[in-house]
Amino acid sequence: MQRSLSSMQHDLVQITINVGEDFKSIVWKAQYDMDFNTECLFCFSEQITGYRVEDEDGKAGKVAVCPHCEKVNAIYA
Ligand SMILES: [Zn+2]
Repeated sequence: MQRSLSSMQHDLVQITINVGEDFKSIVWKAQYDMDFNTECLFCFSEQITGYRVEDEDGKAGKVAVCPHCEKVNAIYA
């Protein structure tokens, strides 16, 4: 399933993960959510992947991560 990322970014969730951070899949207990047909902000990749995560305080949220450079591109709800 692919959806526009920009339409899902309006309500930022209260997690302590920031755009541009390196993806920590194990620490954040990442579970695959969906793919986005969106260019990575940091490299050439034309697709990024969304994951359900928990930050280090145990707060749940979702992050979109580039599979190439593994940087967080967006936080979404
Ligand atoms: Zn990238």
